[in-house]
Amino acid sequence: MRHYAGYLFDLDGTIYLGDELIPDADRTVAKLRERGARVQFLSNKPIARRENYAVKLTKLGIPCTPDDVVNSPLASARYLASEHPGKRVMVMGEAPLQQELLDAGVELTDRVEDTDILLVSWDRDVTWVQMEAAHQALRQGARFFATNPDTVCPVEGGRTVPDAGAMIAYLQASTDCMLEVMIGKPSPIITEMALARIGLTADQCLMIGDRLGTDIAMGETAGLDTALVLTGVTNRDDLERSSAKPTYVLESVAEIS
Ligand SMILES: [Mg+2]
Repeated sequence: MRHYAGYLFDLDGTIYLGDELIPDADRTVAKLRERGARVQFLSNKPIARRENYAVKLTKLGIPCTPDDVVNSPLASARYLASEHPGKRVMVMGEAPLQQELLDAGVELTDRVEDTDILLVSWDRDVTWVQMEAAHQALRQGARFFATNPDTVCPVEGGRTVPDAGAMIAYLQASTDCMLEVMIGKPSPIITEMALARIGLTADQCLMIGDRLGTDIAMGETAGLDTALVLTGVTNRDDLERSSAKPTYVLESVAEIS
């Protein structure tokens, strides 16, 4: 395997599974850092703060600060603040996303008539009243953005639960409005932000992850080499059935040399 100047790691299914470290993931990251490579963690999951990831990774033996983590709430907040300043945003999402948006100075609204942009995310407290408000906002011409495309999120016991992608599908079905802007992986928006933060270009970096439709698709959309790890949601049968072409297929991150 080629030595890269930078490594972008997905988290769930790649560095850990639930609360369990993938064996030797800590040693892999330490080895890359010792070599002088820059490492960043890149997660689509919109329901936790970067501070939580830094604490969790550090406890698992991978010392980190919040600045080592780019997640879809951070990418959404920075993107809205820089590309759509002054716009009022209706958010369908949880407190970590809302806080990241407020920290970036994004103006939030619950009022349909004030909404310039609807930002759809994963919200485990969503009600029909909120779904209806989002529906009306789109009907009245609000722009349609989303934090991440994942339709499900794996949870304990091998089950999955509906994620942001399912909420996007619900609103597309009810309004006939199609999503305009995806911010999380595989969007170039989050990729370019991650590259800017580590100060490298796409061709200098390797993206490592367990999902074909997000982590590996980033290779096609942003020009990165990719490594699929088989410790998460994807197995070899899935890979054979898919048109995705990761640069490397690894049993786990422990194989990164
Ligand atoms: Mg993953």
